[in-house]
Amino acid sequence: MWNLDLSRAFNNKYPNVLKTGLYPELKIMKINDSEYHLEFNNKLTLHEVIERDLQTEDNNTVISGGVEGEKKLVIGTRYERNSKNREDAIEIHGLKCAVCGFDFGEAYGDAGKDYIEVHHLVPLSEKGAPQKVNPETDLVCVCSNCHRMIHRRKGQVYSVEELREKMIECGSIQEIDGQLILSRKAVLRK
Ligand SMILES: [Zn+2]
Ligand SMILES: [Zn+2]
Repeated sequence: MWNLDLSRAFNNKYPNVLKTGLYPELKIMKINDSEYHLEFNNKLTLHEVIERDLQTEDNNTVISGGVEGEKKLVIGTRYERNSKNREDAIEIHGLKCAVCGFDFGEAYGDAGKDYIEVHHLVPLSEKGAPQKVNPETDLVCVCSNCHRMIHRRKGQVYSVEELREKMIECGSIQEIDGQLILSRKAVLRK
Protein backbone atom coordinates (compact mmCIF):
# COMPACT_ATOMS: atom_id res chain seq x y z
CA MET A 1 0.00 0.00 0.00
CA TRP A 2 2.69 2.40 1.08
CA ASN A 3 4.85 1.30 -1.81
CA LEU A 4 2.12 1.70 -4.38
CA ASP A 5 1.01 5.16 -3.31
CA LEU A 6 4.52 6.47 -3.06
CA SER A 7 5.50 5.11 -6.48
CA ARG A 8 2.37 6.59 -8.00
CA ALA A 9 2.97 9.99 -6.45
CA PHE A 10 6.55 9.85 -7.59
CA ASN A 11 5.68 8.90 -11.16
CA ASN A 12 3.01 11.55 -11.43
CA LYS A 13 5.36 14.23 -10.26
CA TYR A 14 8.39 13.06 -12.23
CA PRO A 15 7.15 11.21 -15.32
CA ASN A 16 10.57 11.24 -16.98
CA VAL A 17 12.54 9.98 -14.05
CA LEU A 18 12.58 6.37 -15.16
CA LYS A 19 13.72 7.36 -18.62
CA THR A 20 16.48 9.73 -17.60
CA GLY A 21 17.50 8.15 -14.31
CA LEU A 22 17.84 11.60 -12.76
CA TYR A 23 16.12 11.19 -9.43
CA PRO A 24 15.14 14.24 -7.42
CA GLU A 25 16.22 14.66 -3.84
CA LEU A 26 13.76 13.43 -1.29
CA LYS A 27 13.53 15.03 2.12
CA ILE A 28 11.74 13.06 4.84
CA MET A 29 10.64 14.87 7.96
CA LYS A 30 9.10 13.16 10.93
CA ILE A 31 6.02 15.00 12.20
CA ASN A 32 5.02 12.55 14.90
CA ASP A 33 5.19 8.80 15.49
CA SER A 34 2.81 7.95 12.67
CA GLU A 35 3.20 10.87 10.26
CA TYR A 36 5.97 11.80 7.97
CA HIS A 37 6.26 14.69 5.61
CA LEU A 38 7.89 13.96 2.25
CA GLU A 39 9.29 16.73 0.14
CA PHE A 40 10.70 16.37 -3.35
CA ASN A 41 13.40 18.81 -4.25
CA ASN A 42 13.36 19.12 -8.00
CA LYS A 43 15.72 22.04 -8.31
CA LEU A 44 18.31 20.72 -10.71
CA THR A 45 21.70 22.28 -11.15
CA LEU A 46 22.64 23.60 -14.60
CA HIS A 47 24.85 20.56 -14.99
CA GLU A 48 21.96 18.18 -14.25
CA VAL A 49 19.66 20.08 -16.62
CA ILE A 50 22.24 19.76 -19.40
CA GLU A 51 22.83 16.05 -18.72
CA ARG A 52 19.10 15.43 -18.93
CA ASP A 53 18.76 17.46 -22.15
CA LEU A 54 21.65 15.66 -23.79
CA GLN A 55 20.27 12.25 -22.88
CA THR A 56 16.95 13.16 -24.44
CA GLU A 57 18.63 14.62 -27.52
CA ASP A 58 20.71 11.48 -27.98
CA ASN A 59 17.55 9.40 -27.99
CA ASN A 60 15.89 11.67 -30.51
CA THR A 61 19.00 12.45 -32.55
CA VAL A 62 17.99 16.07 -33.01
CA ILE A 63 20.56 16.85 -35.66
CA SER A 64 20.57 14.11 -38.20
CA GLY A 65 20.90 13.97 -41.92
CA GLY A 66 19.31 10.65 -42.65
CA VAL A 67 20.49 7.20 -41.68
CA GLU A 68 23.56 7.25 -43.85
CA GLY A 69 24.88 10.57 -42.63
CA GLU A 70 24.09 9.96 -38.99
CA LYS A 71 27.33 8.37 -37.93
CA LYS A 72 29.47 11.09 -39.43
CA LEU A 73 27.26 13.77 -37.99
CA VAL A 74 27.58 12.34 -34.51
CA ILE A 75 31.36 12.51 -34.83
CA GLY A 76 31.11 16.07 -36.17
CA THR A 77 28.90 17.20 -33.34
CA ARG A 78 30.70 15.34 -30.58
CA TYR A 79 32.01 18.53 -28.99
CA GLU A 80 28.52 19.99 -29.15
CA ARG A 81 27.06 17.06 -27.30
CA ASN A 82 29.46 17.15 -24.40
CA SER A 83 27.86 18.33 -21.17
CA LYS A 84 30.99 20.08 -19.90
CA ASN A 85 31.27 22.05 -23.16
CA ARG A 86 27.63 23.04 -23.02
CA GLU A 87 27.95 24.15 -19.43
CA ASP A 88 31.10 26.19 -20.13
CA ALA A 89 29.56 27.75 -23.25
CA ILE A 90 26.41 28.78 -21.38
CA GLU A 91 28.44 30.28 -18.56
CA ILE A 92 30.51 32.33 -21.02
CA HIS A 93 28.03 33.15 -23.80
CA GLY A 94 24.71 32.99 -21.99
CA LEU A 95 21.41 31.43 -23.04
CA LYS A 96 20.49 33.62 -26.01
CA CYS A 97 20.97 32.43 -29.58
CA ALA A 98 24.11 33.99 -31.06
CA VAL A 99 22.43 34.21 -34.46
CA CYS A 100 18.92 35.49 -33.76
CA GLY A 101 18.82 36.31 -30.05
CA PHE A 102 16.09 33.76 -29.33
CA ASP A 103 15.77 32.88 -25.66
CA PHE A 104 13.99 29.62 -24.79
CA GLY A 105 13.22 30.71 -21.26
CA GLU A 106 11.64 33.95 -22.46
CA ALA A 107 9.65 32.22 -25.19
CA TYR A 108 8.49 29.09 -23.37
CA GLY A 109 8.79 29.94 -19.68
CA ASP A 110 9.58 26.98 -17.44
CA ALA A 111 9.55 24.51 -20.32
CA GLY A 112 12.43 26.34 -21.99
CA LYS A 113 14.37 27.42 -18.95
CA ASP A 114 18.15 26.93 -19.24
CA TYR A 115 17.91 25.40 -22.71
CA ILE A 116 20.20 26.27 -25.59
CA GLU A 117 22.29 24.24 -28.02
CA VAL A 118 26.00 24.53 -28.49
CA HIS A 119 27.65 24.84 -31.87
CA HIS A 120 31.31 24.16 -32.43
CA LEU A 121 32.72 26.84 -34.70
CA VAL A 122 35.68 24.93 -36.09
CA PRO A 123 34.66 21.94 -38.18
CA LEU A 124 36.33 18.78 -36.96
CA SER A 125 37.77 18.02 -40.38
CA GLU A 126 39.77 21.25 -40.26
CA LYS A 127 41.09 20.50 -36.84
CA GLY A 128 42.21 16.98 -37.58
CA ALA A 129 42.83 15.01 -34.42
CA PRO A 130 40.66 15.90 -31.43
CA GLN A 131 41.96 18.94 -29.63
CA LYS A 132 41.11 20.68 -26.46
CA VAL A 133 38.10 22.95 -26.88
CA ASN A 134 38.32 26.58 -25.89
CA PRO A 135 34.71 27.35 -24.98
CA GLU A 136 35.20 31.08 -25.38
CA THR A 137 36.48 30.99 -28.96
CA ASP A 138 35.40 27.59 -30.29
CA LEU A 139 31.81 27.36 -29.04
CA VAL A 140 28.69 29.47 -29.51
CA CYS A 141 25.18 29.10 -28.14
CA VAL A 142 22.45 28.86 -30.76
CA CYS A 143 18.74 28.03 -30.81
CA SER A 144 17.57 24.77 -32.39
CA ASN A 145 16.25 26.46 -35.53
CA CYS A 146 19.47 28.29 -36.24
CA HIS A 147 21.52 25.23 -35.32
CA ARG A 148 19.62 23.09 -37.79
CA MET A 149 20.06 25.67 -40.54
CA ILE A 150 23.78 25.98 -39.79
CA HIS A 151 24.17 22.21 -40.36
CA ARG A 152 21.40 21.70 -42.86
CA ARG A 153 23.64 21.02 -45.80
CA LYS A 154 26.48 18.62 -45.80
CA GLY A 155 29.79 20.32 -46.46
CA GLN A 156 28.31 23.80 -46.12
CA VAL A 157 28.29 25.01 -42.57
CA TYR A 158 27.09 28.59 -42.27
CA SER A 159 28.85 30.97 -39.94
CA VAL A 160 26.87 32.82 -37.31
CA GLU A 161 27.25 36.05 -39.28
CA GLU A 162 26.19 34.49 -42.61
CA LEU A 163 23.05 33.03 -41.13
CA ARG A 164 22.17 36.24 -39.31
CA GLU A 165 22.64 38.16 -42.58
CA LYS A 166 20.15 35.81 -44.24
CA MET A 167 17.62 36.41 -41.49
CA ILE A 168 18.05 40.18 -41.85
CA GLU A 169 17.56 39.88 -45.64
CA CYS A 170 14.32 37.98 -45.07
CA GLY A 171 13.09 40.45 -42.49
CA SER A 172 13.17 37.83 -39.74
CA ILE A 173 15.50 40.06 -37.76
CA GLN A 174 15.05 43.79 -37.76
CA GLU A 175 17.30 46.55 -36.61
CA ILE A 176 15.46 48.86 -34.26
CA ASP A 177 17.39 51.62 -32.45
CA GLY A 178 20.67 49.95 -33.31
CA GLN A 179 19.50 46.66 -31.81
CA LEU A 180 18.77 43.48 -33.73
CA ILE A 181 15.35 42.19 -32.81
CA LEU A 182 13.66 38.95 -33.83
CA SER A 183 10.51 39.99 -35.62
CA ARG A 184 7.27 38.14 -35.17
CA LYS A 185 5.75 37.82 -38.57
CA ALA A 186 3.70 34.73 -37.97
CA VAL A 187 -0.06 35.15 -37.99
CA LEU A 188 -1.95 32.47 -36.16
CA ARG A 189 -5.20 31.25 -37.56
CA LYS A 190 -8.28 31.28 -35.41
ZN1 LIG B 1 18.54 31.38 -33.39
ZN1 LIG C 1 26.69 22.78 -34.59
